[in-house]
Amino acid sequence: MEVSIAVLSGDGIGPEVISESVKVLEAISYKFAHTFKLGTGPIGGNAIDSHGSALPEETLSICNESDAILFGAVGGPKWDDPSNDVRPEDGILAIRKSLGLFANLRPVKVYPSLINSTPLKPEFLKGVDMLVLRELTGGLYFGKPKKRWTTKRGRRGVDTLKYTENEIKRILEVGFKLAKGRRNKLTSVDKQNVLESSRLWREVAIELSQQYPEVELEHILVDNAAMQLIRNPASFDVIVSENTFGDILTDEASVLSGSMGMLPSASLSALPGEKASKRGIGLYEPIHGSAPDIAGQGIANPIGSILSTAMMLRLSFGLEEEARAIENAVDSVLSEGYRTADIASDGGQKVDTGKMGDVIAGQI
Ligand code: NAD
Repeated sequence: MEVSIAVLSGDGIGPEVISESVKVLEAISYKFAHTFKLGTGPIGGNAIDSHGSALPEETLSICNESDAILFGAVGGPKWDDPSNDVRPEDGILAIRKSLGLFANLRPVKVYPSLINSTPLKPEFLKGVDMLVLRELTGGLYFGKPKKRWTTKRGRRGVDTLKYTENEIKRILEVGFKLAKGRRNKLTSVDKQNVLESSRLWREVAIELSQQYPEVELEHILVDNAAMQLIRNPASFDVIVSENTFGDILTDEASVLSGSMGMLPSASLSALPGEKASKRGIGLYEPIHGSAPDIAGQGIANPIGSILSTAMMLRLSFGLEEEARAIENAVDSVLSEGYRTADIASDGGQKVDTGKMGDVIAGQI
């Protein structure tokens, strides 16, 4: 197979973890005789510095010419001044919006070999295997009005949490379908006791559930969801939620896996095999940010990025065996005791970012 991939590494640890994903892709290419044509472009803070825009035209065209996008992370203190007109995150938000990537799949898995690397008691982690489906192009991050201004009585800021029935329906449909392929349980997260958009969300979920009688639909308020994720994480199968709720809950869920550096994600405009709105390009990225506190030290965990690469091979290119080869390689290096600093609390052999990429690629 010959495919084109836009590789956008971004800022902070983005380039560090992406290099390891590229290493793993090279190993896959060699073993399975595929050609991955990689195009690169600036995005985020470094693009603001070089082009004055968080998503320069040249980067957008590379994305449009590619079959999938592998993304690192953007942002950092250098670009954090709240009075700035342009922010690094604008780049990734614009790609998600322009490609219609409304469905963000975030699998959360507990590796038995990492159970002692988490702050939770092992008995809480048994059987944890969930998929958080985050709505990605609507909700609080995109609703208008969204602005800051000054009045006689001081400064004001507003963000808007807005959803249309269709936006809710399409993400819930993906949730029901994903649950059908798993353990037939869908947990819909909302805040319907306070928010109108959540009351609509719940109403649509109940209506849609008639079409999926085999799937058990459960509703949970987001605050309770935050607690149950720690108290009883194994009770979840597929969780579907509004954009901001999903962002926050998955950072929390990363604690179950041992580190923010462990979790991958896929952002899609349709499930594989279904009609996509815009060419069906998928974007794959670890759930973490640019981690400025550890950037440049060579200690970032590249596994979230490497597992995102596996998701890309499976979901964008249908390369199941190749995706499994990466996931099995990650499983086996963790079982052999290789650890980056963030997951090294149980001992094991401490390695840097590059070595972790080497041993995973070496297993392929
Ligand atoms: P973060 O995810 O970058 O880091 C949170 C904590 O997790 C830090 O202590 C960091 O060291 C650790 N961490 C994250 N990834 C790790 C990895 N791979 N290996 C080891 N440790 C890891 O979140 P933050 O600190 O809140 O944000 C930093 C910057 O990233 C901000 O500018 C934020 O806007 C941006 N951000 C970008 C994205 C994105 O590009 N998609 C997502 C979230 C945050």
